[in-house]
Amino acid sequence: MHELTLLFGIAEQVGRVVKENDLDHVDAVVIDIGEATAIIPEFMQDGYSVVSDDYDFLRGSELIINTVTAVGRCRECGCEFPIVENRGLCPECGSFDKDIIAGQDFIIREVRIMEE
Ligand SMILES: [Zn+2]
Repeated sequence: MHELTLLFGIAEQVGRVVKENDLDHVDAVVIDIGEATAIIPEFMQDGYSVVSDDYDFLRGSELIINTVTAVGRCRECGCEFPIVENRGLCPECGSFDKDIIAGQDFIIREVRIMEE
């Protein structure tokens, strides 16, 4: 379960933001998870409650996950299509041969802090 490793990585990065901006707490962390990553959003959500409890600045905060659609470009005909929806097959020519052009990334999009 590499989700926990990722979550501790998030905590470290958010910790740097907290320090640099002289904050003491954040309310939510927003992350993007591409469909073409091997990251399981449910595991991230479950793990977050454990990891966030380990850090004062994260305690009680929320993890908001945006799922980013995986997009492939067919190597046969150049068509671009959502991979999961088409079960990996090009909807134009039926080829399985493609390059993944979106949805392979995992990023921290935003750290939210409520205004006092
Ligand atoms: Zn094609």
